Amino acid sequence: MSCGRPVDESDEIALASISTTLAKTCTKCSIEPAQIVTLAGSLCSACLKASVTTKLRTSLHRLEAPRRLGRADKSPFSLAIAFSGGPASRLLLELIRPHVYTVEERPLHYRGPPSHALFARAQIIYVSSGSAVIDDQVKTVANDFDYPFCTVTLPVEAVELAANALDPSAKMTLQKNLSRSLITRTAHEQGVTHLMMGETSTGVAIRTIAGMSVGAGFNLGEQVATHVPLFNDKLQLVRPLAHVSSREVAFLVKQLGLRTIFVPNDLTMAKAKGKKEMGIDGTVEEFVLGLEQQFPATSSVVGRTAAKLSLCGATSTLCSVCGLPADANASTWRHATALSSFTEHDDLTPSEIASPLCYSCGIATRKIA
Ligand SMILES: [Zn+2]
Ligand SMILES: [Zn+2]
Repeated sequence: MSCGRPVDESDEIALASISTTLAKTCTKCSIEPAQIVTLAGSLCSACLKASVTTKLRTSLHRLEAPRRLGRADKSPFSLAIAFSGGPASRLLLELIRPHVYTVEERPLHYRGPPSHALFARAQIIYVSSGSAVIDDQVKTVANDFDYPFCTVTLPVEAVELAANALDPSAKMTLQKNLSRSLITRTAHEQGVTHLMMGETSTGVAIRTIAGMSVGAGFNLGEQVATHVPLFNDKLQLVRPLAHVSSREVAFLVKQLGLRTIFVPNDLTMAKAKGKKEMGIDGTVEEFVLGLEQQFPATSSVVGRTAAKLSLCGATSTLCSVCGLPADANASTWRHATALSSFTEHDDLTPSEIASPLCYSCGIATRKIA
């Protein structure tokens, strides 16, 4: 995939040696005291917010480009935002608000959108894992926005039933893939033109490394790219925070006083039990977060590398679990390459893998049948 600008190898070498020392004064405005080290230097909170807002605008400009060039119809865009209650998706909701217009905002006798707005309507999609308490908390936060709220529920009982037969890595992979699939299918059913996810560069780096470890290379481009066409181009998945680290997100959320929900997921709970329970995802997450403390550019470097991955694009085979492109040959070569668990016991034949499944879902579900 190309982001429009060729990525220079020397960028990545330079990024890896970014200073971790906080300067006294903000590198951008040279007035306010610096508060956080970023790839752009030591910034104050106002300059960090401006920098993140610019990244979001750049992402939105890319959506508009085909229309500006007259290569697409000009009917209004509509948006779904995947919201978990966590800091990244909460910040995304806040930043995207000025880009959604309501009918009341339109000047009298003018039927087009306000000049600053891009989306004629927005809605929130939330994946519930079955806890009524957390669902209520998430809804309360989402009430800060006047957007329709759509809850979809993970088939928790099925996942729990399967959990006994799965190792921790496989269970987490399956949950993530199912959740992603529910979100994209719901957005498609709701007929929106764009779906936004609040994945940060840290999340993209973790997904890239963990994805490679479980053999998800075939559709890794789709899993980490900033703009991904889905459902024959009827829906575009956008990750506008893919160049913002989770540390920067956490800092901004605190500075802006935004309410977020702490949702204890399997990973959080597994961490308390030890490395083996954490699975590949958890171990990679711990590794990347640790690395970022010493080398703040880590996630950006991995993300830039992942941005070079190609998208599969139109394909006739889509995975029946996660909806991502599936390689028809996945089941035949997975035996040779995957690091699917710490104690490998890969004794099923290719014919035992349900079809069509992508490589990572095939690995995750191989012991359920
Ligand atoms: Zn500043
Ligand atoms: Zn899949």
